[in-house]
Amino acid sequence: MEWITQVRPGFGGFDEPYERAKVVFVGVPLDVTSSYRSGTRFAPGRIREASANLETYLMSAGLDVFESLGISDLGDLTVTPTELAATGDRIREVVRKVSLDGKVPAILGGEHTLTYFAVQEFRDAFLVQLDAHRDLREEYLGDRLCHATVMRRVLDTLPAERLIQVGVRSCSKEEAEFARREKIRAYSSEQVMDGTSSVVAEIRKLVGGARVYLTIDLDVLDPSFAPGVATPEPGGISTVQALRLIRGIGELNLCGFDVVELAPPHDDGTSAFAAARLIYELLGAMAGSSK
Ligand code: MN
Ligand code: MN
Repeated sequence: MEWITQVRPGFGGFDEPYERAKVVFVGVPLDVTSSYRSGTRFAPGRIREASANLETYLMSAGLDVFESLGISDLGDLTVTPTELAATGDRIREVVRKVSLDGKVPAILGGEHTLTYFAVQEFRDAFLVQLDAHRDLREEYLGDRLCHATVMRRVLDTLPAERLIQVGVRSCSKEEAEFARREKIRAYSSEQVMDGTSSVVAEIRKLVGGARVYLTIDLDVLDPSFAPGVATPEPGGISTVQALRLIRGIGELNLCGFDVVELAPPHDDGTSAFAAARLIYELLGAMAGSSK
């Protein structure tokens, strides 16, 4: 794929060959529809940098993720800023290839819009969305497909009962009415704070053995834990609560995941490290459950 630029070192600082990998990272520096703070294009690089400075041994899982899962990093996808559709086609193509090769695609965003393209390859899956926002607007600032409408567009093809929103705490009146009408399953940040393990248990029950795509919008964390995001929203969960959620979700039948909305120009490094840590926790849970 000539529109992927190799980046070395890759996630975690390791360089496993693609053939041996179970999880395959790709950076998608998409940064075109931000309504407030831009800079998500710098996120894949910063997450990789942070990942190389964290332990790869997971105390929670009792294993080293790089010994237990083959992990490879293809590099960064070329983003055509004026043509979202062209970028979207590339996202779909790389996700399809990795998935058909029996591997789990792991996308380092970029803005949340990219999830729309990635999940087109997983029409049978549940979508678990960790996010402060519901992203259910029909249109935002004239755009039908952007970071604020991405889940609404996903629902154009995904049945509403297969979207599960976790950590949400902000939406418009129109989004609230739409969500109520469509009976969209949602757990607010306060519900997660009041009982992370019961939220995980409910998600597990809803999903059963079906495939799950996990999208982590980093603003699900409270701004005190992850200040460097495109749209900070007070009243969020802590890093520890997010780690617990992710540990539970990582044991499900995961077919792909992404981490989006980190905005490095507004970060002191804390948020990039939080992103990398959440990813490691997910990899640890995946490795632990496939043992
Ligand atoms: Mn958000
Ligand atoms: Mn979002």
